[in-house]
Amino acid sequence: MKLIGLLGGMSWESSAVYYQAINEGIKQRLGGLHSAELLMYSIDFARLEKMQREGDWQTAAQLLIEKAKRIEGAGAQCLLICTNTMHIVAEQVANAISIPLIHIADAVGEKLVKANVDKVALLGTSFTMTEAFYRVRLQENFGLNVITPKADDRKLIHDVIYNELCLGKIQPESKQAYLDIIAKLKEQGAEAVILGCTEIGLLIQQDDCPLPLYDTVMIHAKKAVEFALQE
Ligand code: GLU
Repeated sequence: MKLIGLLGGMSWESSAVYYQAINEGIKQRLGGLHSAELLMYSIDFARLEKMQREGDWQTAAQLLIEKAKRIEGAGAQCLLICTNTMHIVAEQVANAISIPLIHIADAVGEKLVKANVDKVALLGTSFTMTEAFYRVRLQENFGLNVITPKADDRKLIHDVIYNELCLGKIQPESKQAYLDIIAKLKEQGAEAVILGCTEIGLLIQQDDCPLPLYDTVMIHAKKAVEFALQE
């Protein structure tokens, strides 16, 4: 089994889900008492969040590169950045290390293509929903028609992520607000929804929703399991 490297803490609420999902994936494949070989470097999210808010992506990239190198130096054979948003600097991180970076958007893009989805709604932080690094990658590399909520709905989604979910607060009224936004996206023709923020799966689950949900944590974690077990 290969050693998986996780760059987490963004936020730790979802890194905990990665840890569980990867271990469950290994157990499912190998059975018995098997569990994952993995290393996680979990950063202090408050530091990074300030850089995000100030648009200081250069310093944020340097921070992630430094941690990624430590993970590589400790022997990890692949790297997962356990957040969608910070894939904004994924290319810089990938170029600074020699182990493969398993890209979260590629993992979800492949899965949507296999499921023959064409028009898909993307929920995430405002960075993920509006900047090119994620949306355009899905459009250009996977031919997906990606739609996002309108501006005030994007703000609500973003605020719930930072003010509630990253703090471990799960509020029924926020869940309803997300479901109402999803209903509008369905009316616009969305066939599926990408939970393009690693905390959204803490708030809404498949049983709540009429459209298929693609939870990026679960899809990304599965890719790590496949990597760890490949010959
Ligand atoms: N975990 C979130 C994501 O997947 C948001 C927190 C962050 O900014 O990293 O985008």
